[in-house]
Amino acid sequence: MPSLLEARHPTRLSYSALSTYANCGEQFRLERLYGVRGGTYWSTIGGSAFHVIGEAMALRSLGIDVEQPSFEDAFGAELEKVLQRNGITEDQIIASGRVVKGGLTPGGGPNKKNRDWWLHYGPQMVSGLARWLDEDPGKVWIAPTGEPAIELLFDIEIAGVPVRGYIDMVREYAGGFLRIVDLKGGNRPMTTEQLGVYSEAIRQMFDAKATQGAYWMAQEFLPDPRDPEAPAPKIQWESLVRYTPDYFDARFGMARDGIDAGVYLANPSNLCGGCSVRDFCRLQGGARAEEVPYREPKREMVLACA
Ligand code: SF4
Repeated sequence: MPSLLEARHPTRLSYSALSTYANCGEQFRLERLYGVRGGTYWSTIGGSAFHVIGEAMALRSLGIDVEQPSFEDAFGAELEKVLQRNGITEDQIIASGRVVKGGLTPGGGPNKKNRDWWLHYGPQMVSGLARWLDEDPGKVWIAPTGEPAIELLFDIEIAGVPVRGYIDMVREYAGGFLRIVDLKGGNRPMTTEQLGVYSEAIRQMFDAKATQGAYWMAQEFLPDPRDPEAPAPKIQWESLVRYTPDYFDARFGMARDGIDAGVYLANPSNLCGGCSVRDFCRLQGGARAEEVPYREPKREMVLACA
């Protein structure tokens, strides 16, 4: 029997961790306690490159003179980082999306969304963002600390749990109205809860209200090849007022209680096919499942602010 991996209990949560815990406790346990790392995807590399450029573009929209790399250069730099960090070669990187035999389309290509796909559509995503930044009536918010609200780090506490993350962008509109923007190179999330967490972070850090937000979906802003001059689509602003401090107290509090009690129930679903830790999942017959114990001894107050 292979030697068992050792658990390292989490000391803080991010929105992504909360979301994973809510979707499948076993996936959370494998990823966050045992550090099981799934495969590396071209979409992660492409998405990171897009974010690097998006940050530079947003800073430049404020007149701040920062270098803006080409998509190809940013993609190459991110690829290099991933290859070194994960100790892999390019042929081990996984392509997401669909097989489309006829050529590259927004949904995939002959080899799904691989390197070629990203080098074709990545620059178009950048053009789409440039056009939107140009046409949007708002501007990047300058936080009370004087820093532009771009890739804004937050380190807050919800239900006694340290919660950390980065907000892609907060924008300010007429009358000082604030809106949160999260750049997405992939699929639209099922809910706006992530934006709600960012709104809560803005409230806690700056005593400011950002009651609306949106996912800026790169693929929806790709230029129409039949009419490249067509106006950019409207962004879908969503109300975030339902994400109150009490709501998050309950949501993170329940996750904290479950994690502290060692409750990690697997939730098999149609997402299992693309699950990054499937090889270690006992329920799905993962080949390496024996390397992880069934469960950990109960731990008190794993997630707590000092
Ligand atoms: S394969 Fe399915 S059940 Fe197993 S950890 Fe992943 S999401 Fe959960």
